[in-house]
Amino acid sequence: MSRERVAPQDWYETIRMADDVTLIQEPWIKPFFRCNMWHVRGRDRDLLFDSGLGHVSLSRHVRLVTERPLIAVASHTHFDHIGCHHEFAHRAVHAAEAAILADPRNELTLADKYATDEMFDRMPKGWQSERYRIEPAPAERLLQDGEIIDLGDRAFEVVHTPGHSPGGIGLFEKRTGIFLSGDIVYDGPLIDDAYHSDRGDYRATFERLRPLGVSVVHGGHFPSFGPVRYRQIVDEYLEGLRKAGCHLT
Ligand SMILES: [Zn+2]
Ligand SMILES: [Zn+2]
Repeated sequence: MSRERVAPQDWYETIRMADDVTLIQEPWIKPFFRCNMWHVRGRDRDLLFDSGLGHVSLSRHVRLVTERPLIAVASHTHFDHIGCHHEFAHRAVHAAEAAILADPRNELTLADKYATDEMFDRMPKGWQSERYRIEPAPAERLLQDGEIIDLGDRAFEVVHTPGHSPGGIGLFEKRTGIFLSGDIVYDGPLIDDAYHSDRGDYRATFERLRPLGVSVVHGGHFPSFGPVRYRQIVDEYLEGLRKAGCHLT
């Protein structure tokens, strides 16, 4: 790759969506590896769901995340989602992946396989894939299914979504139907064969998620979508498992 490196101030972009939700992304990373970070404004505090690759400081270059008190929640602990968690004082993760957030070694976060120069359209200044490490970010709050992330005037329910990884979660806001879904469901190739993936869990999670009254799904990768596409993706996956002859319990 002969092109010039990208300066830190040009690394992130923010896109404002409805209902005080903002997408933060790293556009120089190819879509399959490019994590969607979701910022939600609340009355008493803000929510950040995932924090990206971590090579360029999020708190230094995206003003939105330092304007108000904020809780940084991890959808799960793959490297593309937790790189900047250490920059935030208040951190939460599902209990099943708390150990990885506290000790995010490359072989546990999939960075050993995927965090290479091939991820980028253009690389950021200072990037050397062999030196990539994520800073430990032990959580102050360990989440379980059904808990509420309370922003004062907004409440997001934790939905445990094992399958892609054991401690995956989505956050569902009942009032608006907003579902922040992480890597369990997005509009692109779903990953059910990572070292700690489980297809039986994936299927059980999808059967549980299917009736959820979503109005919009903001996933961990790729563009957002609505309820029809949501059920289409879920059904296609379940159908594929059946075709592949996976008779899972
Ligand atoms: Zn993932
Ligand atoms: Zn991901």
